[in-house]
Amino acid sequence: MKFLVANWKMNGDLEFADRLISAVKDISTQHNVIICPPFPLLFKFQNFPHKLGAQNCSYLEFGALTGEVSPLLLKELGCQYVIIGHSERRCIFNESSEDIYKKFQLLLRLNLIPIVCIGETSEQKSQWREILSEQLALFKNEQNSEMIFAYEPIWSIGTGFTPTTDEIHERISAIKTMIQGKVLYGGSVNQKNSSEILQISSVDGVLIGGASLKIEEFIKIIDF
Ligand code: PEP
Repeated sequence: MKFLVANWKMNGDLEFADRLISAVKDISTQHNVIICPPFPLLFKFQNFPHKLGAQNCSYLEFGALTGEVSPLLLKELGCQYVIIGHSERRCIFNESSEDIYKKFQLLLRLNLIPIVCIGETSEQKSQWREILSEQLALFKNEQNSEMIFAYEPIWSIGTGFTPTTDEIHERISAIKTMIQGKVLYGGSVNQKNSSEILQISSVDGVLIGGASLKIEEFIKIIDF
């Protein structure tokens, strides 16, 4: 069973959510399809037959944190998964590995499954092993086998460029020696490359950005 995670980022609206829900609700699959829409659209997925996730959360359950969203509220709205540490959070919002680890610990305490994103920049390509090891340092002693990591080379996100299947296998196998849990691949996954990537033995699933916003393409990816 593979994980197929749709990260809508800051895209989609009420009408798109309705269309996506009616297009995928009757698809039966043995895989774990997880839709991660923006927070205000989560309520639309109340009777959704697949899984629901969020794209971020606060590191606290409640409090004076204007503009933040509690993982408790996400749980109440039906989320079982929360993406944390996406490269856009790290690079644009300056989130550190320590910030991400605080969120991670809270999510596990609340029985939510974190999907922790890691990955190197194009300048760091040749040092990928050291970079991933640094990003994973805080997570290395965690024993929870449900937790999920997503290897997303930053140079591949939204660019149309992907590592070769051998490179994906090499990186994901290396990550699996550093932590427990499942490991997904993310970065320019589309209808043309998804089945080849999903066939890599070390890959537990894919995180899909842009292609998850094209309903017909997304259906082809999840219906493999
Ligand atoms: C992402 O943002 O996590 C992602 C994988 O995006 P894309 O599929 O568009 O490269």
